[in-house]
Amino acid sequence: TFIVFEGTEGGGKSTQLQLARDWLERSRLLDNSDIVVTREPGGTALGRALRQLILTDGDTAPHDRAELLLYAADRAQHVATAILPALERGATVLCDRFTGSTIAYQGYGRGLDLDTIDTLNRIATVGLRADLTLWLDVSLEVGRERARARSSPDRMERNQQDFYARVRQGYAHFAATDPERVVRVDANGGIDDVHARIRAILSDRLAR
Ligand code: C5P
Repeated sequence: TFIVFEGTEGGGKSTQLQLARDWLERSRLLDNSDIVVTREPGGTALGRALRQLILTDGDTAPHDRAELLLYAADRAQHVATAILPALERGATVLCDRFTGSTIAYQGYGRGLDLDTIDTLNRIATVGLRADLTLWLDVSLEVGRERARARSSPDRMERNQQDFYARVRQGYAHFAATDPERVVRVDANGGIDDVHARIRAILSDRLAR
């Protein structure tokens, strides 16, 4: 089973992914206790090198189109060498970001062509889709406050209301086009409340 956590900064994506992993390990929902936690960009050795290149500022910062291709390269390597092998041996894969991020950030955020993004996603994933994507949706205000509280220069640069508004619209579009597989989770409020919402969704989905 392939489960993806998506959303903008300040939505608590990484925290919630770890909580979900710990809970899944304790729960009896999975027949196989093999759980793989991974992320994009940076889920492989090549991906970590790409992540460094992508998330640089200044002279070496990639142009929008170069950035799109680097994300695609990261994903191609990640799917081929980490995600597919794990799924083939029966593991549950929990992934921080996947194709939805490219649609939301590069498509809606940066305004790159959505059909091209679709093609790149298909090349990179060889058609693999997440069984379930949890879109952790925070309001722009809450997301900004949380991101500010632990801000790095990269996060500050992107910390612009209109950019985030577009990215969030992108996630809304992504969720609307595949409502069976992409579920919006209200990520405003306390960590425990959000975790409870995610537990409810996972219990329902994994019991099927
Ligand atoms: O979620 P994570 O901290 O790994 O994301 C790192 C940065 O990469 C974030 O600032 C996010 O905005 C950016 N990103 C992006 N486009 C993607 C994936 C991540 O701009 N497709």
